[in-house]
Amino acid sequence: MDVSDLAQGVVVENHGAIFDVEIDGRMVRCFLRGRLKKDKRTKVGLIAAGDRVKVRLLEYGRGVVEEVLPRESDVSRAAAGSIPLEQTLAANVDQAVIVFAAAEPAADLFMLDRFLVMMRAARLNQIICINKCDLADADSLRARLAVYEGIGHRVLFTSAIRGDGLAALRDAMKDRRSVICGPSGVGKSSLLNAIAPGVALRIGEVGAVTHKGRHTTSSVALVPLPFGGWVADTPGLRQAGFWQVSIGHVIEAFTDLHPYLGRCEFSNCTHRRQKGCALEAAARAGRIDPRRLRSFLEMGGR
Ligand code: GDP
Ligand code: ZN
Repeated sequence: MDVSDLAQGVVVENHGAIFDVEIDGRMVRCFLRGRLKKDKRTKVGLIAAGDRVKVRLLEYGRGVVEEVLPRESDVSRAAAGSIPLEQTLAANVDQAVIVFAAAEPAADLFMLDRFLVMMRAARLNQIICINKCDLADADSLRARLAVYEGIGHRVLFTSAIRGDGLAALRDAMKDRRSVICGPSGVGKSSLLNAIAPGVALRIGEVGAVTHKGRHTTSSVALVPLPFGGWVADTPGLRQAGFWQVSIGHVIEAFTDLHPYLGRCEFSNCTHRRQKGCALEAAARAGRIDPRRLRSFLEMGGR
């Protein structure tokens, strides 16, 4: 077979054994070439939504995935089960839009820090979105989030109901491949509905299928945005607590603490009420946010 016979496309949804692949704006239902299946033993969900694949087109809108192209990025978590297998939730994603609410429920900044570590470990650009701004005082909200802007994060303040920040959010997602994540009830679906009517509905349908399915074949769909770009939403992404992060990733993400790391009087300093602790001294002096330091230690940073 000639390689030039293969068409290139993007996997939009993985149904376990079959995949929906978009090829030049057309949806092709694909099966996996036999020899590619062997890799499944080492990596659950060898093919994920977002993967770029080469497909041999068959009749009746069907195809066979012959090759999976190397990934630029990979959002994965440890899959359920006794053997620690890695499960890819979405491939080739550019950025994570991490949504929390100003109130109802109030943003849990410790959880936000966890998301930031995970998404940085996955090499994704991160956008923090604080929704339900209509329920809180703008100035105190900005003050609470200032530490994140201070370390270079983009923070959007939105209200899906009142319309604040929606143009900026649309702009930030345009022509990008985003995953949207954050706890439930913060307004993720409402935001998607506000910037791209109809999109959240499709995501909801996917979620319903996923809950019934087995854990290892969790289905993630990429949904095209009407103004350009894609968004992937997955229940698995919302459970920040279950993700594995290494100490290296924690240290890397806390750039605000970097100037003080390794400067304590004792090299084995626990940074908890210890003599000569550079981190505690910096927190006391207001040079670092004491809550960020606590967050760092809770995630196993040292
Ligand atoms: P999700 O679980 O993150 O997808 O959250 P939903 O989009 O389902 O929203 C949860 C609840 O918050 C719903 O009752 C929404 O109407 C409400 N909600 C969403 N966005 C806003 C907002 O900007 N302001 C206010 N006041 N309520 C909102
Ligand atoms: Zn210390």
